[in-house]
Parts: sequence; structure tokens; C-alpha cells
Amino acid sequence: MAADEGTRRHSDCSLHDVAIVGLGVMGGAVALELARRGARVIGFDRFTPPHRWGSSHGDTRIIREAYFEHPVYVPMVQRAFALWRGLERASGAVLLQQTGGVMIGEPDSALVAGALRSARQHGLQHEVLSADELRARVPVLNPEPGMVGVWEPRAGVLAAEACVSAQLDQARRHGASLRPDEPVSHWQADGTGIGIDTAHGHYRARQFVICAGAWVASLLPGMTVPFRVERQVLHWFEPAADAGAFAPQRCPVHLWQFDGGRFFYGFPDQGAGVKVAFHHRGESTSADTVAREVAASEVDDVRRALRRLLPAADGRLRASTVCLYTNTPDEHFWIDRHPAHGNVWVASPCSGHGFKFAPAIGEVVADLVEGRPARFDLGLFGWRA
Ligand SMILES: Cc1cc2nc3c(=O)[nH]c(=O)nc-3n(C[C@H](O)[C@H](O)[C@H](O)COP(=O)(O)OP(=O)(O)OC[C@H]3O[C@@H](n4cnc5c(N)ncnc54)[C@H](O)[C@@H]3O)c2cc1C
Repeated sequence: MAADEGTRRHSDCSLHDVAIVGLGVMGGAVALELARRGARVIGFDRFTPPHRWGSSHGDTRIIREAYFEHPVYVPMVQRAFALWRGLERASGAVLLQQTGGVMIGEPDSALVAGALRSARQHGLQHEVLSADELRARVPVLNPEPGMVGVWEPRAGVLAAEACVSAQLDQARRHGASLRPDEPVSHWQADGTGIGIDTAHGHYRARQFVICAGAWVASLLPGMTVPFRVERQVLHWFEPAADAGAFAPQRCPVHLWQFDGGRFFYGFPDQGAGVKVAFHHRGESTSADTVAREVAASEVDDVRRALRRLLPAADGRLRASTVCLYTNTPDEHFWIDRHPAHGNVWVASPCSGHGFKFAPAIGEVVADLVEGRPARFDLGLFGWRA
């Protein structure tokens, strides 16, 4: 590598096997898997991950198996469970705490009916609990009359930033060259590979993987892609009563569908407070212009849901933060080859539910990049501009 100290620009003329733009949980997973297989990997991020400007921050993420969105995700999440445990062993970090999980709503709601469909189709361990049974098992949950809960024992909590750090550390250990604070401004495919221009230099790679989360459209110039970036707010509350009942040993992760189409979810208290949020119904935005401050009305809105569904968590607000979903029109993932360039891949818009799958997606993308068939059914995740 030659460095022009005068302009601080680097020119790395060597040909990398794979360049990755974006080192959040998806890019981190892809970088780790490819580096582990011996590929010469270079990765770029516009910030220093883990950071709080994209989609992979906020302490925790839910991992669950009885996947209400579609049964096709179940084998992928099962593989992801094993791979997260493998990353724990390799890194020595604690990344996954299995607390059990419960999906709560009317029996015919998308959440409950969808979770049951996946559980039955894949023979997953689960129980259906009435509102009274659920209240007896987890006293802090306050299901409304007519609601039921689909209980699954394997669900739990991923430590979000620790997962990203562990992926990137391990990728580096396997030889990946990762370049934080180096935004990719432009890329171009030619006969021999991809040329990549960043804020600091020019690089070349045989293959290029775009994992840019909410910025993904900016890396697909000239293409009409139907991604919608959605602002989401996370809140941490102090329990108002019976704090011990929110301990991970006593409180599962919980998802709710209520008032027809509203979704709400919460975590046990692992020390920072009880984290809760709505799923979707956020305003459309962009990664560069999103309002990062949280309005009092947004806290009031989530408090109203807390008082109904999780009243013991209705204590002092400790913190709120803004995070970004990048939604596809059907809310399924987008993992596919670029339609015009056979050596360019997109693996990132995950519609607000992708974190748990990241290591399995890393494996799938590594397979595709190496010219192997995908090990999972990716039929729902194709290019659909
Ligand atoms: C509030 C919230 C709650 C969620 N809850 C869950 C959950 O419980 N369970 C679950 O499974 N999923 C959940 N998700 C979804 C999950 O977190 C995301 O699908 C996942 O984090 C997306 O990862 P990513 O790597 O695609 O994006 P990001 O983490 O945002 O990474 C993209 C990276 O690309 C970089 N980048 C962008 N443009 C450039 C450029 N030009 N040059 C260099 N770098 C660039 C950015 O800096 C960023 O680091 C949630 C998401 C949010 C926002």
C-alpha cells in the first residue's frame, strides 16, 4: 500500500477478494465469515462501529425461533443460534442470554397466528397460554381479556454492541482489514473487478458486498430501490414496582399485538432498566436527516402502552434513543446479487428484524460470493425494484 502523506490519501492497488461497505451487524458477519474462510477481505465504515447512528445499537436485540413473519426464517434463526454461541466461544464474550419469549395478542392476530404457524410447521417446543395463565407465570405482563400468549423457551436477548464488537474483532483476527471512519463515496464495476473510492483512497476488489443499512440506497446510484427508512425510538424505564420480577430469570422477552395492528415489545431488565418500544409506525426519514431528539409526546405514547400492558414498568424514564429501520415493501429481507453486476451483492435492508440472523446471513453471503448455492431458501429475499 502506498500512502500519499501530502493529501493523506491511500492507494491500495492490490486486488482484495471481497470489499464490504458497512460494518454494522450484517457487514461484520459477512467480514468475519469470509475472513474465517481465508478470503482477503477489506471493509469500510463511515463511523467506528459499534456506533449509534445506524441500526445495530441500543444494548439489546430479541432473538426468537417461532417466527411470526414467516416459517421460512426458522432454519435460518436456528443456524444463527448456533453461530452466536460459536462467536461467544471464539471471543470469550457473553452475547446471548436465553430468557424464553412470549408473543401476545388475539388468537387470530398476525403475531400469535404467525408464531403458531412457524412453531407447528417446524415442530418447535411451545405452549399456548391464556391471559390468566400468562399473568400467573409472568406477573409483570398484563394481557387483556381475549389475548393469548405463544410461549417459546429458546428465545432471548442478544447484547447488540457486544455482538458487533466481537464480530469485528474476530474478523480482524482472521486477517480482515477493517477501515472505520472511511466512508465509501463511489464504486464502479469494470472488466476485472470493482474500483472503490473512499474519503481516504482508492481500492480494488473482485467482489463487493453492500451492507450499508439505512444508507444502502445512496450506494445504488441510478437505481430505483423501494427501501423506506423508518425512525424508531427505544426507551428504558425504571420499574415502578417489583423490580426483581423484571430480572432475566423471571421475565422473558415479550412481543405484543394490540389495538388491531399495533406492535409493542419489551425486554427483561439487565441493569439498564426495562427497555420497551413500538415496532413500526415511525415516521419516514433518511439516515442523514433523521431527528435524533425524542419528543415528550413520544414518551407519553409509549407510557400509555406500558400502563396497559406492562404497568409495573411505568417508573422513571432513564433514557431514550433513536434507531433506524430500513424496510422493504413486504418487510422481508433483501439479500441478492446486483441485477447489472454479477460480482456486487446487497445484504442489508432487514426491515427491523434482521439482527438475530446476522451470522447466518454472513454464511449465506459468503456462500454466494464463493459461487456456492445458498444453504437456505432465499426466495423471499430477492431483488424487487
Ligand atoms: C429500534 C430497533 C430495534 C430492533 N430490534 C430488533 C430485534 O429485537 N431483533 C432483531 O433481530 N432485529 C432488530 N432490529 C433490526 C436490526 O437491528 C437491524 O436489521 C440490523 O441491526 C441492521 O444491521 P445493518 O448492518 O444492516 O445496519 P447498520 O448497523 O446500520 O450498519 C450499516 C453500516 O453501514 C455504514 N455505512 C453506511 N454507508 C456507508 C458508506 N457510504 N461508507 C461506509 N460505511 C457506510 C454505517 O455507518 C453503518 O455502520 C431492530 C432495529 C432497530 C432500529
